[in-house]
Amino acid sequence: MATLFSIDHSDPKPAGLPSQNPTRSFWANSSPDANPLSREGSTGPLITDADVCIIGSGITGVGVAYHLSEAIETNVLQSPLKVVILEARDFCAGATGRNGGHLTPAAFSEFHDRASKYGPEEAKRSYALEAHTASSLVHIIQDHGWVNDVDLVHGGHIKLLCSDQQVESAQRDREAAVDAGWSLEGTLALSKEEVEATFGAHYPAVKIPGYNLWPLKLVTKLYQLAQSRTGRGFDLVLHTHTPVTAIQHANVSSSASGSEPSANATRAYRLLTPRGAIACSRVVHATNAYASHLLPFLAGPQGIVPVRGQVIATRASVGTDQIKINSWVANEVAFRSFYLVLVFPRTVHRVGNTGSRVRSSHAVYVDDDTTCHPKVGETLRAFLPTTFEEKFERGREPEMEWTGIMGYTAIKDPFVGPIDKFPAIQGTDITRYTGQFIAAGHSGHGMPRAFGCAEVVVQMIVAELTGTVWIQPEWLPTRYLTGKERDSELMIRN
Ligand SMILES: Cc1cc2nc3c(=O)[nH]c(=O)nc-3n(C[C@H](O)[C@H](O)[C@H](O)COP(=O)(O)OP(=O)(O)OC[C@H]3O[C@@H](n4cnc5c(N)ncnc54)[C@H](O)[C@@H]3O)c2cc1C
Repeated sequence: MATLFSIDHSDPKPAGLPSQNPTRSFWANSSPDANPLSREGSTGPLITDADVCIIGSGITGVGVAYHLSEAIETNVLQSPLKVVILEARDFCAGATGRNGGHLTPAAFSEFHDRASKYGPEEAKRSYALEAHTASSLVHIIQDHGWVNDVDLVHGGHIKLLCSDQQVESAQRDREAAVDAGWSLEGTLALSKEEVEATFGAHYPAVKIPGYNLWPLKLVTKLYQLAQSRTGRGFDLVLHTHTPVTAIQHANVSSSASGSEPSANATRAYRLLTPRGAIACSRVVHATNAYASHLLPFLAGPQGIVPVRGQVIATRASVGTDQIKINSWVANEVAFRSFYLVLVFPRTVHRVGNTGSRVRSSHAVYVDDDTTCHPKVGETLRAFLPTTFEEKFERGREPEMEWTGIMGYTAIKDPFVGPIDKFPAIQGTDITRYTGQFIAAGHSGHGMPRAFGCAEVVVQMIVAELTGTVWIQPEWLPTRYLTGKERDSELMIRN
């Protein structure tokens, strides 16, 4: 039996729809205007016909919309395109609006394992994809002058090494990366004494390049940019509070459904929502943790398992000048928890964010983000004052506490590509899925991956629309592709 997170996976159930009335994240609720698109398109007439329906308005879904608009803008795609984003709740109310705000491409962690399992070239692509994604986002932010708008900070990222085992494993990964010819430029090993002197924590650490930003603000900007291109052959509409409850494969004439007939009047799919149906030719599943709701064959450890993370936003007791670094991660073995600490020097809030991803029954297969777990909350409250004794006050209550749902796969890598290529559905009527795509299962590390995966899905759609052959980018790991068999016994061990 599969043992992702060492728990029993017998009889896995597909994820539900995103819960109504979720806990309130700092990012979406710190000011009244924090999420200007929150209820965009939630009332009034529903679009009834589109070329591409994107399900989900996180970094992946909006990334797909952005890249489609870019394809039109740059004349890669010359035919008009009607695109709609359907979101079950507020705009960007999933993991993207609830995470720790790190944009940290992995530098070399897990290199040894990946090189042994997949070979050095495929291992290198894991890091190349993340470097590509982070640098694409940073370039877009800089080119459009959004640095202050999205609170982008290039402060580096520190991983505390909390045990001898973690020190050894970091050393092994570093050596494997060097052996494979992967550049470690910008990375730094810090001794316990150096960490103590500069940051106040009593562990050795690894420092790697990395960014922090306000994910909801970034996704809002990306959507607004894509939307501003409407009218030049590109048409983008967002309907929030419009959950997709089912996908029917059907030949629906768009004129019969009441909308203007388009050049491509026969649509393969009808997406059902409580507000009505939408006919479309292509569907992109950007639903991450919730993917198995519409694609039940993805339930369980061979697909995408929902895992709940919990976060607190806490005020530090010292000024940001004394915190010295924006981004931390520490894997505290005793609690089997994973912490993130983030401080925003750009805001006046001096907020430390501690996120926990407890790998236990508190969290695995939990797709409900309407509550917080008290035990996890206790652990989170203890972490900052224990690790950074003089910087966070013991007993101070957090300003906000919330949960969010991540989508984990057995190998902790996402699925990217056409749905009809999944090995699990070969032998069934795969034409029911032709024209549907997915980029999901980012396994708690989507910020430096999802936007690049969205780019790949758009390349594939553009190739279909232009009758060309899609060519795998050199930075894309082959194992991400939906058409590839994932060796579960080898890969699930963890
Ligand atoms: C607590 C926490 C901490 C994290 N920390 C980090 C980190 O430090 N670094 C990092 O890189 N990543 C982190 N992540 C993970 C990161 O946030 C995700 O990998 C990334 O945001 C995934 O983006 P997405 O767009 O694919 O999914 P999401 O942002 O979850 O978007 C999916 C959207 O689909 C919508 N949806 C689902 N089903 C339907 C449906 N049937 N109809 C309509 N809409 C639907 C959902 O409401 C949601 O808005 C963290 C996540 C959490 C929750």
